[in-house]
Amino acid sequence: MHELSITQSVIDTVVERTQGARVKVVRLTIGRLSGVVPDSVRFCFELIADGTPLQGARLDIHEPVGRASCRGCGQRFELRELILLCPCGSADVSVEDGQQLALTSVEVA
Ligand SMILES: [Zn+2]
Repeated sequence: MHELSITQSVIDTVVERTQGARVKVVRLTIGRLSGVVPDSVRFCFELIADGTPLQGARLDIHEPVGRASCRGCGQRFELRELILLCPCGSADVSVEDGQQLALTSVEVA
């Protein structure tokens, strides 16, 4: 599972950077077009965090919508899922936002 390895690397990174300090909050940004499912990340987080300094930490996930512009008609529009289609029917679109996958901040106790 994609989300399992992503979550594992997030937790590894946090543990490494905070040098074993107790972590209260982890904030992630997962764009709607990143292909990563936030609910799966939440599920994996609880499993993997167990027994680490992140156990019991709150996971805040920000999910920005995608934005794209159409090369055909020039229209800019929002995308809520990974279906890259302009309202005009063209799939020749350029994605401008929503593909982020980032660890934005961490709060330690
Ligand atoms: Zn269009």
